[in-house]
Amino acid sequence: MFASEVPSPTRRHNECPICHWRETELFCVAADRVRRAPEESWDVVRCRRCGFGWTEPLLGTEELSGYYPPTYLGTIDTRIGEFLEGKLQRSRSWRGETEKVRLVMRYVASGRVLDVGCGDGKFLWALPPDRYERAGIERSAKTVELVRRRMPDIDLVSGDIHSPELEPGRYDLITFWHVLEHLPRPDLVLERVGKLLRPGGWLIISLPCIDSLQASLFRSFWYGFDDVPRHLHHFSKASLNRLLENAGFLTVRHLLFSRLVNFHSLKHSLLNWSNERFHSRIPYYALKPALLGLEAFERVTGRYGIRTVIARKRQGTND
Ligand SMILES: [Zn+2]
Repeated sequence: MFASEVPSPTRRHNECPICHWRETELFCVAADRVRRAPEESWDVVRCRRCGFGWTEPLLGTEELSGYYPPTYLGTIDTRIGEFLEGKLQRSRSWRGETEKVRLVMRYVASGRVLDVGCGDGKFLWALPPDRYERAGIERSAKTVELVRRRMPDIDLVSGDIHSPELEPGRYDLITFWHVLEHLPRPDLVLERVGKLLRPGGWLIISLPCIDSLQASLFRSFWYGFDDVPRHLHHFSKASLNRLLENAGFLTVRHLLFSRLVNFHSLKHSLLNWSNERFHSRIPYYALKPALLGLEAFERVTGRYGIRTVIARKRQGTND
């Protein structure tokens, strides 16, 4: 079982929350690089059967909120301004959003889209408004208020996926771009996704994967662990499939859809290793060309760092 909102007194799982196997292993000890708190370390524990990983000690929702950096409304306001002027669309960072839109269009040509954990909603801004009705969920009420005021076409809801404002059976597509690994009960989240989608509706999840070559090679230096303890869970292909199946989804495809994002993860993992082991960037520059070979190997073996899963709600299941 997954932890409830309040973690168990032991703050550890005594079995895998996905497949209930009791044999686990310590994958590595990781530090919170985003908050630059190397003195606080977190255990990444992995199930020996399905490969699902999680961060220990387990934190409750309340405790966890203290680990999230504040949202900078000024930055969001500037970004909206740049978007409305068309300047943002010419920047390098915008490529990440347009490639998501191209992926979405391959599966859902038009309809109602809900982006979970949408932040300022950049992905939603990028979706063509003549094709899609765009909605998002964001935990920061201030962000929601700001975006609503400046971009009234986008329907943002403040809260989480369980918010009663969201109408069951409404959506053609629900997306999670690097969000599912942050949520304490992914099983309940996917159950709710099943209710919010129309029968046959689509689900897209992108997240870092612990059974990737880059995670195995870099271990505690892996970029996918920079965000512990906010990354509560570390999915493997098998555990993600099992979770989706339990929630009534059919996995259509696993993709390395963004070479951009995957390579970013590889590059930063090497940089972490170089900086923390040698206190120098020289080993990073010396080995950086080898990353292209590693990336090719990841693609051949299917063990890439950032996995995107396309799934579909089974027809006829409406609860
Ligand atoms: Zn397991």
